[in-house]
Amino acid sequence: MYRERGVAAAGSKAEMASIDRKRINDALDKHLERSSPSTSKGLNGKDKDRVSAQSTLIEESETDTEESDVSGSDGDDASWISWFCHMRGHEFFCEVDDDYIQDDFNLCGLSSQVPYYDYALDLILDVESSHGDSFTEEQNELVESAAEMLYGLIHVRYILTSKGLAAMLDKYKDCDFGRCPRVYCCGQACLPVGLSDIPRSSTVNVYCPKCEDIYYPRSKSQGDIDGAYFGTTFPHLFLMTYGHLKPQKASQSYVPRVFGFKMHKP
Ligand SMILES: [Zn+2]
Repeated sequence: MYRERGVAAAGSKAEMASIDRKRINDALDKHLERSSPSTSKGLNGKDKDRVSAQSTLIEESETDTEESDVSGSDGDDASWISWFCHMRGHEFFCEVDDDYIQDDFNLCGLSSQVPYYDYALDLILDVESSHGDSFTEEQNELVESAAEMLYGLIHVRYILTSKGLAAMLDKYKDCDFGRCPRVYCCGQACLPVGLSDIPRSSTVNVYCPKCEDIYYPRSKSQGDIDGAYFGTTFPHLFLMTYGHLKPQKASQSYVPRVFGFKMHKP
């Protein structure tokens, strides 16, 4: 088991970029070939292969009860997705359906964008990986970061589907995305938006449907999330889909005054 949920650091994204991925990947591949040739083959295949490889490994390591006791702590009961979405700062994410992720069609093109793709996908889907014990701490962190990125890139696609829009609707109703800080918007609920669909180009912002402007999220940890995990389309498609939720445009605007008199522009 290589999953160390407490360790998943949002800040490791930047570090990841600077690390020589190829070198680590090569070392990783060599290591896997040596330690478990039969299971590493299965990892590149489809889910069924993974699961069967995993179950044989579990049988083999049944004697290793000490470790399973240690890892069976509180946080492990929840799925990775649920755990990830409940982390502080991750309030904007909705939980993507397992079914959606398991459909290869929905993940088209992502394997070339995300390092450690197969391991990251296993982690997201809670498929126990057979190589877990052979990973170094550094590799575990890389897989965790890759899983976060992969989840984000799946998430931005999912929230444009009818199920995803519905999941985000629940969060919007609960004001999970915060309220517009503008006084005349009277606490209007906001929606997350990215300024770019390309990963690592900007962080997430919130869009107010009333004043039709964007703002920084209230919390710093929310503000560190990649805007590409929400995308440029989401809030606008959301308001087209749920047209009845679109508020009237803000009519009031602030007028600066000195001793009660409006100021004239020079
Ligand atoms: Zn506003």
